[in-house]
Amino acid sequence: MTHPKTERTLVIVKPDGIQRALIGEIMKRYERLGLKLVGLKMMVPTESMIENHYLIDPNWKKNVGEKAIASYVKKGETPPNSDPIKVAEAVVENLKKYMTSGPVIAMVWEGAHAVELVRKITGGTEPRSAGVGTIRGDFVLDSYQMADGDARAIRNLIHASGTIPEAQKEIPLWFSHTELISYRVPHEATLYDADMRSLIG
Ligand code: ADP
Ligand code: MG
Repeated sequence: MTHPKTERTLVIVKPDGIQRALIGEIMKRYERLGLKLVGLKMMVPTESMIENHYLIDPNWKKNVGEKAIASYVKKGETPPNSDPIKVAEAVVENLKKYMTSGPVIAMVWEGAHAVELVRKITGGTEPRSAGVGTIRGDFVLDSYQMADGDARAIRNLIHASGTIPEAQKEIPLWFSHTELISYRVPHEATLYDADMRSLIG
């Protein structure tokens, strides 16, 4: 079995994150947790890259549609469409426009529970309801209501893989094998060594 510290996740700072000058703030959050940056690049993505990225998981459409509908229902509001797949198809089109509107930064972060912990720090999809202390909750204010009102994607600064299988499928779309670097940093001993007494020599 591979050690949990080798888990990797994909993070993308979306165009609004770069425009808001939040690159350093976002990277700081993951770095200070103890995760290790093993891949990094900046680009303006193409629409086909974005379509491949979001449609790589066959369940994504159903999930994204159901999540949006549930958010309206929870607030006592009526969703613009009651068919989750129709909702998701509109989201994909809006995501293509959003994600190709400027440069993005793609990163791979490595460490124990990387996928789960990056999601926790990043916060929920809708900034309006994302938790206090999360990046999406603290730095931006968008909502399903505003995004749907203007027929656009929710501006929430970051993409972060949702599950380990999703991360495993997404990472190769953005990085070739040689673009991901395996290396050690000294504090890994403090985070992961079974016996910390080795630290005093
Ligand atoms: P997350 O990024 O939190 O994993 P999803 O995978 O469900 O969220 O959706 C991908 C992205 O699509 C979101 O980050 C957001 O930018 C956008 N999005 C999702 N649902 C909607 C929606 N109902 N209306 C507009 N944009 C949406
Ligand atoms: Mg997702």
